Amino acid sequence: MSTEFRPTAEQIPAQTLAYPASQSDMNPLPDSDLSNYSPAGKLQGKVALITGGDSGIGRAVAIAYAMEGADVAIVYNVHDDDANITKALVEEKGQHCLTIKADVRDSALCKQAVAQTVEKFGHLDILVNNAGYQKVQFEIEDISDEQFQRTMETNIFGYFYMLKAALPHLKAGDAIINTSSILGLIGKEFLVDYSASKGAINAFTKATAQNLAKRKIRVNAVAPGPVWTPGIPGTMTPEQVDNFDKDNAMERAGQPEELAPTYVYFASEDSSFVTGAILEVTGGQVSST
Ligand code: NAD
Repeated sequence: MSTEFRPTAEQIPAQTLAYPASQSDMNPLPDSDLSNYSPAGKLQGKVALITGGDSGIGRAVAIAYAMEGADVAIVYNVHDDDANITKALVEEKGQHCLTIKADVRDSALCKQAVAQTVEKFGHLDILVNNAGYQKVQFEIEDISDEQFQRTMETNIFGYFYMLKAALPHLKAGDAIINTSSILGLIGKEFLVDYSASKGAINAFTKATAQNLAKRKIRVNAVAPGPVWTPGIPGTMTPEQVDNFDKDNAMERAGQPEELAPTYVYFASEDSSFVTGAILEVTGGQVSST
């Protein structure tokens, strides 16, 4: 899609889909084909493991990495159809894709996912922690203990489990990229537990970056603003989708393919002097109203 004609919030019709939503059911379909992207062999011969790689931002990152010459493994938890579409799109770019159905809240399954990736491709060079969970609650009393636990287990425990499982295979020059959120910096009144979990990812990114610098492994985070992915109609009310999202200066949602180049930057030598950074890709979102 031409970058000049991206839909504004008003052009995305009010809709809601059962959680977890599939990308194929969205209207309009998210733009993740990277048709405007020019690759330059920046990840030639690399292997990346991307959690939540079946749809949304993760799918766009998988395609961008494949365009740059990497093989990818994607971890997902529900939608085989979405995962198979990502696999086909990666293969279309001439690379291999391993799909792994696993719950990142389970440390043993994270270890298994890394082992399967290394068994298939022989090595692992890039870890993208991107799987995420959110549930809207307008009152704090409505956030159940179970919800709070699930949000934290998916969004921060899972990132820790994957990092720990990947570490024995990572070496100097390798990279870890965490998907945070602008809400981890500014908060959101109806996503209290989610905002807290994303704040944890930001601190986790900075602390692990300091710790792993001696091994020459870089750790950075991407903090997206509103991006049109299944997570949005799958967790928000039709009215929220209708207004999604008026908080940013550009007054429109981003498309997954607009996020992917940042993940290429953090994975490649282009960012060789960058670690512990949180890069906001938000269309200019500085506050939450
Ligand atoms: P998405 O729904 O396409 O992707 C989320 C994916 O996470 C799912 O497809 C699923 O595969 C995976 N997942 C969820 N729970 C899991 C579990 N327990 N085990 C394994 N996998 C699990 O949505 P997205 O918006 O592309 O989300 C990707 C990341 O971007 C998330 O971390 C999200 O918090 C973050 N983010 C999204 C937005 C946005 O507006 N879309 C904004 C800021 C941050």
